[in-house]
Amino acid sequence: MNGPNPERYFDHAATTPLDPRVFEEMRPYFSEHFGNAHSLHGFGRKAAAAVELARERVAEAFELDDPSQVVFTSGATEANNQALSGSDALTMSPFEHSSVFEPGLARGASLLANRGFFLRHSQNQAGLVAVMAVNNETGAILDVAGAKASGARVHSDLTQALGKTDLPREWDTASCSSHKVYGPKGVGALLVRDEPPPSLLLGGEQESGLRAGTLNVPGIVGFGLAALLATHEREARERQAREVRAAFLEGLVGLSDWQTNDHKHQSPFILSVSFRGVLGEALVIECDAAGFAISSGAACSSRSNEPSHVLQALGLSQEWSRGTVRLSFGATNHPESATSLAKSVVKTVGNLRSMRKS
Ligand code: PMP
Repeated sequence: MNGPNPERYFDHAATTPLDPRVFEEMRPYFSEHFGNAHSLHGFGRKAAAAVELARERVAEAFELDDPSQVVFTSGATEANNQALSGSDALTMSPFEHSSVFEPGLARGASLLANRGFFLRHSQNQAGLVAVMAVNNETGAILDVAGAKASGARVHSDLTQALGKTDLPREWDTASCSSHKVYGPKGVGALLVRDEPPPSLLLGGEQESGLRAGTLNVPGIVGFGLAALLATHEREARERQAREVRAAFLEGLVGLSDWQTNDHKHQSPFILSVSFRGVLGEALVIECDAAGFAISSGAACSSRSNEPSHVLQALGLSQEWSRGTVRLSFGATNHPESATSLAKSVVKTVGNLRSMRKS
């Protein structure tokens, strides 16, 4: 039996397949180099050296001079939660990922005003302002520098930006994740320029006391190489994403009543597209039946029936937001597979619309 065809996987913003080069780098740390990076003996020192190399690589990818500014975590969700935990006065963009948005709301955060994707930063802003670099549902590149200019401390979620756009530098803390750049799942980092937020986990002195718990050595090793490759190969990956995106959009020509939800400043890796008169979920299911993987929104929220807070903040009406799907492009895609996906979408949208009429 044939397995699913990776060329038809258009959900790289949800996760990416592990790069074989990354897998090879990780392999010995599952087997012969199994030491605990905090042990004093040779096994421990071998693991610790690999972690420190990974820390240097992640620091290089984020253009940080000091590798000690990288605190390894279980992913961006944890890093975002930790970054917000240190501040009582919180403001955030209305476009944040749920791992910022939900802890933010629980802490009484207020929302920055917006016009479309343009954020209205206030003057003399107190406390912490969270503004992500690239929105995970739409690919909009947001104004992080404007938050810093307002005088606030800034937290920026860089998860969808690493290796994909110019990284903003105007942040005090930032988060990132390995599995969006062909690294392993369950590892990421909190980046801290100066004042660190408190540790969420107590019970160990790992990561300079900022994250207790035995280090995930193979995961960290994999993230180190994945981050480096993402930076070095950015140009080629960006070109591929642009070509695949263009091929898909070209395939929609002739179809009526659809729109892209692009920003003026847009990542080519993500495409949010709305079709009037269909349900995004139905389109996802029909595309899946044809072997294509797309998403009806952010993977983390696509199981809930609530309209996405991001599309709401954009002012999209119910009719358009319900018919929205997200495509996200990456290494497995080619223009030809995007053209086939577009054909499948055109056919399915037509069928779904005619079913509603009948
Ligand atoms: N922030 C953004 C912008 C994301 O896209 C994601 C992944 N959906 C996360 C945070 C969460 O990352 P992780 O899976 O590493 O917890």
